[in-house]
Amino acid sequence: AKSAGGNRFELADPVQDARAITRHGLTTALPAALARGEFFIEYQPLVNLGDGSVRGAEALVRWLHPQHGILGPDRFIELAEHTGLIVPLGRWVLEQSVWQARQWQERHADAGPLRINVNLSPCQLTHPGLVSDTVEILERVGLAPHSLCLEVTESALIGADDDLLKPLRRLAEMGVDIALDDFGTGYSNLANLRRLPVSVLKLDRSFTQGMQQFPADPVDLKIVEGIVALAHNLDLAVTVEGVETGAQAEQLRELGCDTAQGWYYARPGPPDRLHQLALADATG
Ligand code: C2E
Ligand code: CA
Ligand code: CA
Ligand code: CA
Repeated sequence: AKSAGGNRFELADPVQDARAITRHGLTTALPAALARGEFFIEYQPLVNLGDGSVRGAEALVRWLHPQHGILGPDRFIELAEHTGLIVPLGRWVLEQSVWQARQWQERHADAGPLRINVNLSPCQLTHPGLVSDTVEILERVGLAPHSLCLEVTESALIGADDDLLKPLRRLAEMGVDIALDDFGTGYSNLANLRRLPVSVLKLDRSFTQGMQQFPADPVDLKIVEGIVALAHNLDLAVTVEGVETGAQAEQLRELGCDTAQGWYYARPGPPDRLHQLALADATG
Protein backbone atom coordinates (compact mmCIF):
# COMPACT_ATOMS: atom_id res chain seq x y z
CA ALA A 1 0.00 0.00 0.00
CA LYS A 2 1.23 3.43 -0.93
CA SER A 3 -0.01 6.72 0.46
CA ALA A 4 -0.86 9.21 -2.27
CA GLY A 5 -2.22 12.72 -1.77
CA GLY A 6 -4.52 12.97 1.20
CA ASN A 7 -5.81 9.43 0.96
CA ARG A 8 -3.53 7.36 3.13
CA PHE A 9 -5.38 4.15 2.34
CA GLU A 10 -5.22 4.24 -1.43
CA LEU A 11 -3.89 0.92 -2.66
CA ALA A 12 -1.19 0.73 -5.28
CA ASP A 13 -1.08 -2.02 -7.88
CA PRO A 14 0.02 -4.89 -5.66
CA VAL A 15 1.82 -6.84 -8.37
CA GLN A 16 3.72 -3.85 -9.70
CA ASP A 17 4.73 -2.66 -6.28
CA ALA A 18 5.41 -5.93 -4.52
CA ARG A 19 8.98 -6.10 -5.67
CA ALA A 20 9.82 -2.45 -4.94
CA ILE A 21 8.15 -2.53 -1.53
CA THR A 22 9.92 -5.73 -0.70
CA ARG A 23 13.27 -4.36 -1.80
CA HIS A 24 12.73 -1.20 0.20
CA GLY A 25 11.27 -3.12 3.13
CA LEU A 26 14.09 -5.62 3.12
CA THR A 27 16.71 -2.90 2.92
CA THR A 28 15.36 -1.01 5.92
CA ALA A 29 14.87 -4.25 7.88
CA LEU A 30 18.47 -5.44 7.39
CA PRO A 31 20.19 -3.75 10.36
CA ALA A 32 17.56 -4.88 12.87
CA ALA A 33 17.64 -8.37 11.37
CA LEU A 34 21.35 -8.59 12.10
CA ALA A 35 20.84 -7.30 15.63
CA ARG A 36 17.96 -9.76 16.24
CA GLY A 37 19.89 -12.75 14.93
CA GLU A 38 17.65 -13.50 11.93
CA PHE A 39 20.58 -14.62 9.74
CA PHE A 40 21.87 -18.14 9.73
CA ILE A 41 24.43 -20.09 7.76
CA GLU A 42 24.15 -23.29 5.77
CA TYR A 43 27.23 -25.31 4.92
CA GLN A 44 27.81 -27.16 1.66
CA PRO A 45 30.50 -29.85 1.60
CA LEU A 46 33.63 -29.55 -0.52
CA VAL A 47 34.70 -33.00 -1.62
CA ASN A 48 38.10 -34.27 -2.71
CA LEU A 49 37.54 -35.68 -6.23
CA GLY A 50 40.47 -38.07 -5.83
CA ASP A 51 39.17 -40.13 -2.91
CA GLY A 52 35.70 -38.72 -2.24
CA SER A 53 36.58 -37.45 1.24
CA VAL A 54 34.98 -34.33 2.69
CA ARG A 55 37.58 -31.56 2.90
CA GLY A 56 35.43 -28.84 4.35
CA ALA A 57 32.49 -26.66 3.42
CA GLU A 58 31.43 -23.35 1.96
CA ALA A 59 29.41 -21.07 4.25
CA LEU A 60 26.24 -19.72 2.56
CA VAL A 61 24.20 -17.13 4.44
CA ARG A 62 20.37 -17.11 4.67
CA TRP A 63 17.86 -14.77 6.27
CA LEU A 64 14.95 -16.16 8.27
CA HIS A 65 12.61 -13.24 7.68
CA PRO A 66 9.68 -13.05 10.13
CA GLN A 67 7.15 -12.42 7.30
CA HIS A 68 8.77 -13.77 4.13
CA GLY A 69 10.34 -16.96 5.46
CA ILE A 70 13.80 -18.07 4.40
CA LEU A 71 15.42 -15.73 1.90
CA GLY A 72 18.51 -16.71 -0.10
CA PRO A 73 21.53 -14.44 -0.46
CA ASP A 74 20.46 -13.45 -3.97
CA ARG A 75 17.59 -11.55 -2.32
CA PHE A 76 19.60 -9.46 0.13
CA ILE A 77 23.40 -9.45 -0.39
CA GLU A 78 23.18 -6.78 -3.07
CA LEU A 79 20.94 -4.66 -0.81
CA ALA A 80 23.38 -5.08 2.06
CA GLU A 81 26.19 -4.00 -0.25
CA HIS A 82 24.32 -0.81 -1.19
CA THR A 83 23.72 0.17 2.43
CA GLY A 84 27.13 -0.88 3.74
CA LEU A 85 25.55 -3.44 6.07
CA ILE A 86 27.56 -6.09 4.22
CA VAL A 87 30.61 -5.15 6.30
CA PRO A 88 29.14 -6.09 9.72
CA LEU A 89 27.09 -8.91 8.15
CA GLY A 90 30.19 -10.29 6.40
CA ARG A 91 32.15 -10.05 9.64
CA TRP A 92 29.38 -11.97 11.41
CA VAL A 93 29.41 -14.68 8.73
CA LEU A 94 33.19 -14.94 9.01
CA GLU A 95 33.14 -15.23 12.78
CA GLN A 96 30.34 -17.83 12.81
CA SER A 97 32.03 -19.87 10.09
CA VAL A 98 35.47 -19.78 11.71
CA TRP A 99 33.92 -20.82 15.00
CA GLN A 100 32.04 -23.65 13.26
CA ALA A 101 35.21 -24.91 11.57
CA ARG A 102 36.91 -24.96 14.95
CA GLN A 103 34.03 -27.06 16.33
CA TRP A 104 34.31 -29.57 13.47
CA GLN A 105 38.05 -29.86 13.98
CA GLU A 106 37.64 -30.53 17.68
CA ARG A 107 35.07 -33.23 17.02
CA HIS A 108 37.17 -34.88 14.26
CA ALA A 109 40.69 -34.78 15.44
CA ASP A 110 41.60 -37.74 13.18
CA ALA A 111 39.53 -37.02 10.06
CA GLY A 112 42.04 -34.39 8.88
CA PRO A 113 41.30 -30.73 9.51
CA LEU A 114 38.03 -29.68 7.90
CA ARG A 115 38.37 -26.31 6.25
CA ILE A 116 35.91 -23.47 5.80
CA ASN A 117 35.29 -21.30 2.73
CA VAL A 118 33.72 -17.87 3.25
CA ASN A 119 32.51 -15.49 0.53
CA LEU A 120 33.86 -11.94 0.56
CA SER A 121 31.98 -9.09 -1.04
CA PRO A 122 33.97 -6.47 -2.99
CA CYS A 123 32.87 -3.93 -0.32
CA GLN A 124 34.65 -5.96 2.34
CA LEU A 125 37.81 -5.96 0.23
CA THR A 126 38.02 -2.19 0.30
CA HIS A 127 37.13 -1.95 4.00
CA PRO A 128 40.23 -1.09 6.05
CA GLY A 129 39.36 -3.55 8.85
CA LEU A 130 39.47 -6.69 6.70
CA VAL A 131 42.93 -7.93 7.65
CA SER A 132 42.80 -6.95 11.33
CA ASP A 133 39.26 -8.36 11.80
CA THR A 134 40.22 -11.63 10.16
CA VAL A 135 43.40 -12.00 12.22
CA GLU A 136 41.52 -11.11 15.39
CA ILE A 137 38.77 -13.67 14.73
CA LEU A 138 41.19 -16.47 13.83
CA GLU A 139 43.26 -15.83 16.96
CA ARG A 140 40.33 -15.48 19.32
CA VAL A 141 38.62 -18.63 18.04
CA GLY A 142 41.88 -20.53 17.67
CA LEU A 143 41.63 -21.62 14.03
CA ALA A 144 44.79 -21.96 11.92
CA PRO A 145 44.87 -19.52 8.97
CA HIS A 146 45.33 -22.38 6.47
CA SER A 147 41.96 -23.77 7.56
CA LEU A 148 40.28 -20.68 6.12
CA CYS A 149 39.66 -19.94 2.44
CA LEU A 150 38.22 -16.60 1.39
CA GLU A 151 36.31 -16.61 -1.91
CA VAL A 152 36.47 -13.46 -4.02
CA THR A 153 34.70 -13.27 -7.36
CA GLU A 154 36.66 -12.92 -10.51
CA SER A 155 34.71 -9.77 -11.39
CA ALA A 156 35.71 -8.10 -8.09
CA LEU A 157 39.37 -8.47 -9.01
CA ILE A 158 39.22 -7.52 -12.68
CA GLY A 159 41.48 -4.56 -13.17
CA ALA A 160 42.25 -4.54 -9.43
CA ASP A 161 45.11 -2.22 -8.56
CA ASP A 162 47.74 -2.91 -5.93
CA ASP A 163 45.82 -1.13 -3.17
CA LEU A 164 42.95 -3.56 -3.56
CA LEU A 165 45.25 -6.57 -3.69
CA LYS A 166 47.36 -5.58 -0.68
CA PRO A 167 44.99 -6.88 2.03
CA LEU A 168 44.50 -10.15 0.12
CA ARG A 169 48.25 -10.49 -0.22
CA ARG A 170 48.70 -9.95 3.53
CA LEU A 171 46.11 -12.64 4.26
CA ALA A 172 47.69 -15.03 1.74
CA GLU A 173 51.11 -14.51 3.35
CA MET A 174 49.60 -15.49 6.71
CA GLY A 175 48.43 -18.76 5.16
CA VAL A 176 44.80 -17.93 4.38
CA ASP A 177 43.80 -19.40 1.00
CA ILE A 178 42.22 -17.07 -1.51
CA ALA A 179 39.90 -18.58 -4.13
CA LEU A 180 38.87 -16.88 -7.34
CA ASP A 181 35.12 -17.55 -7.35
CA ASP A 182 32.87 -17.85 -10.43
CA PHE A 183 35.97 -18.24 -12.57
CA GLY A 184 35.28 -18.16 -16.28
CA THR A 185 32.34 -15.75 -16.10
CA GLY A 186 34.43 -12.58 -16.17
CA TYR A 187 36.91 -11.50 -18.74
CA SER A 188 40.09 -11.79 -16.78
CA ASN A 189 43.29 -11.86 -18.64
CA LEU A 190 44.66 -15.31 -17.91
CA ALA A 191 48.20 -13.94 -17.72
CA ASN A 192 46.91 -11.64 -15.01
CA LEU A 193 46.29 -14.61 -12.76
CA ARG A 194 49.95 -14.67 -11.80
CA ARG A 195 49.59 -11.21 -10.30
CA LEU A 196 46.71 -12.21 -8.02
CA PRO A 197 47.39 -13.74 -4.60
CA VAL A 198 45.03 -16.66 -5.27
CA SER A 199 45.69 -20.34 -4.70
CA VAL A 200 42.37 -21.80 -5.89
CA LEU A 201 40.30 -21.35 -9.04
CA LYS A 202 36.62 -22.03 -8.54
CA LEU A 203 35.13 -22.92 -11.90
CA ASP A 204 31.69 -21.44 -12.37
CA ARG A 205 28.63 -23.66 -12.54
CA SER A 206 28.11 -22.75 -16.20
CA PHE A 207 30.98 -25.11 -17.10
CA THR A 208 29.53 -28.05 -15.21
CA GLN A 209 26.14 -27.36 -16.77
CA GLY A 210 27.69 -27.96 -20.19
CA MET A 211 28.50 -31.49 -19.01
CA GLN A 212 24.96 -32.23 -17.97
CA GLN A 213 24.02 -33.92 -21.22
CA PHE A 214 25.58 -37.15 -22.35
CA PRO A 215 27.87 -37.19 -24.18
CA ALA A 216 29.13 -33.88 -22.79
CA ASP A 217 29.80 -30.99 -25.14
CA PRO A 218 33.36 -31.66 -26.41
CA VAL A 219 34.14 -27.95 -26.55
CA ASP A 220 33.26 -27.56 -22.85
CA LEU A 221 35.49 -30.50 -22.07
CA LYS A 222 38.39 -28.92 -23.97
CA ILE A 223 37.91 -25.63 -22.15
CA VAL A 224 37.90 -27.23 -18.72
CA GLU A 225 40.90 -29.35 -19.66
CA GLY A 226 42.76 -26.19 -20.72
CA ILE A 227 41.85 -24.29 -17.56
CA VAL A 228 42.95 -27.19 -15.35
CA ALA A 229 46.30 -27.44 -17.16
CA LEU A 230 46.87 -23.69 -16.85
CA ALA A 231 45.85 -23.65 -13.19
CA HIS A 232 48.10 -26.56 -12.27
CA ASN A 233 51.00 -24.95 -14.14
CA LEU A 234 50.50 -21.89 -11.95
CA ASP A 235 50.25 -24.08 -8.81
CA LEU A 236 46.57 -23.35 -8.36
CA ALA A 237 44.06 -25.95 -7.23
CA VAL A 238 40.79 -26.28 -9.17
CA THR A 239 37.41 -26.54 -7.48
CA VAL A 240 34.25 -27.11 -9.53
CA GLU A 241 30.83 -26.06 -8.36
CA GLY A 242 27.36 -27.17 -9.40
CA VAL A 243 28.14 -30.88 -9.71
CA GLU A 244 24.73 -32.53 -9.87
CA THR A 245 25.39 -36.05 -11.20
CA GLY A 246 27.86 -38.87 -10.67
CA ALA A 247 28.71 -38.81 -14.39
CA GLN A 248 29.75 -35.15 -14.14
CA ALA A 249 31.84 -35.89 -11.05
CA GLU A 250 33.63 -38.71 -12.83
CA GLN A 251 34.30 -36.62 -15.91
CA LEU A 252 35.62 -33.70 -13.84
CA ARG A 253 37.86 -36.06 -11.90
CA GLU A 254 39.27 -37.43 -15.16
CA LEU A 255 39.88 -33.88 -16.36
CA GLY A 256 42.08 -33.37 -13.29
CA CYS A 257 39.88 -31.12 -11.15
CA ASP A 258 40.84 -31.34 -7.48
CA THR A 259 37.72 -30.52 -5.46
CA ALA A 260 33.99 -30.56 -6.16
CA GLN A 261 30.84 -29.09 -4.68
CA GLY A 262 27.23 -29.60 -5.67
CA TRP A 263 23.91 -31.27 -5.10
CA TYR A 264 25.32 -34.65 -6.15
CA TYR A 265 27.23 -34.68 -2.85
CA ALA A 266 24.93 -32.58 -0.70
CA ARG A 267 22.77 -29.48 -0.70
CA PRO A 268 23.74 -26.70 1.69
CA GLY A 269 22.60 -27.73 5.18
CA PRO A 270 23.02 -27.29 8.92
CA PRO A 271 26.49 -27.72 10.47
CA ASP A 272 25.71 -31.15 11.92
CA ARG A 273 25.08 -32.52 8.42
CA LEU A 274 28.69 -31.83 7.52
CA HIS A 275 29.83 -33.41 10.74
CA GLN A 276 27.90 -36.58 9.89
CA LEU A 277 29.17 -36.70 6.29
CA ALA A 278 32.77 -36.23 7.38
CA LEU A 279 32.40 -38.80 10.11
CA ALA A 280 30.82 -41.30 7.69
CA ASP A 281 33.74 -41.10 5.29
CA ALA A 282 36.34 -41.19 8.05
CA THR A 283 34.92 -44.43 9.45
CA GLY A 284 33.71 -46.17 6.32
P1 C2E B 1 28.33 -18.82 -4.96
O1 C2E B 1 29.43 -18.36 -4.07
O2 C2E B 1 28.67 -19.10 -6.38
O3 C2E B 1 27.71 -20.09 -4.22
C1 C2E B 1 27.25 -21.23 -4.89
C2 C2E B 1 25.75 -21.20 -5.09
O4 C2E B 1 25.37 -22.33 -5.87
C3 C2E B 1 24.95 -21.32 -3.79
O5 C2E B 1 23.74 -20.56 -3.94
C4 C2E B 1 24.64 -22.81 -3.74
O6 C2E B 1 23.51 -23.12 -2.94
C5 C2E B 1 24.39 -23.11 -5.20
N1 C2E B 1 24.62 -24.50 -5.54
C6 C2E B 1 25.44 -25.37 -4.91
N2 C2E B 1 25.47 -26.58 -5.52
C7 C2E B 1 24.61 -26.48 -6.57
C8 C2E B 1 24.22 -27.42 -7.61
O7 C2E B 1 24.66 -28.56 -7.69
N3 C2E B 1 23.33 -26.96 -8.54
C9 C2E B 1 22.84 -25.70 -8.50
N4 C2E B 1 21.96 -25.35 -9.44
N5 C2E B 1 23.20 -24.79 -7.54
C10 C2E B 1 24.08 -25.18 -6.59
P2 C2E B 1 23.21 -19.60 -2.79
O8 C2E B 1 23.39 -20.24 -1.45
O9 C2E B 1 21.85 -19.15 -3.19
O10 C2E B 1 24.21 -18.38 -2.86
C11 C2E B 1 24.19 -17.50 -3.96
C12 C2E B 1 25.35 -16.53 -3.92
O11 C2E B 1 25.23 -15.63 -2.81
C13 C2E B 1 26.70 -17.20 -3.71
O12 C2E B 1 27.13 -17.73 -4.94
C14 C2E B 1 27.53 -16.04 -3.21
O13 C2E B 1 27.99 -15.27 -4.30
C15 C2E B 1 26.52 -15.23 -2.43
N6 C2E B 1 26.71 -15.47 -0.98
C16 C2E B 1 26.28 -16.48 -0.21
N7 C2E B 1 26.67 -16.32 1.08
C17 C2E B 1 27.37 -15.16 1.12
C18 C2E B 1 28.06 -14.45 2.16
O14 C2E B 1 28.12 -14.84 3.35
N8 C2E B 1 28.66 -13.26 1.80
C19 C2E B 1 28.64 -12.81 0.51
N9 C2E B 1 29.26 -11.64 0.24
N10 C2E B 1 28.02 -13.46 -0.48
C20 C2E B 1 27.39 -14.62 -0.18
CA1 CA C 1 31.36 -18.83 -3.40
CA1 CA D 1 30.81 -19.61 -7.13
CA1 CA E 1 28.23 -18.90 -9.01
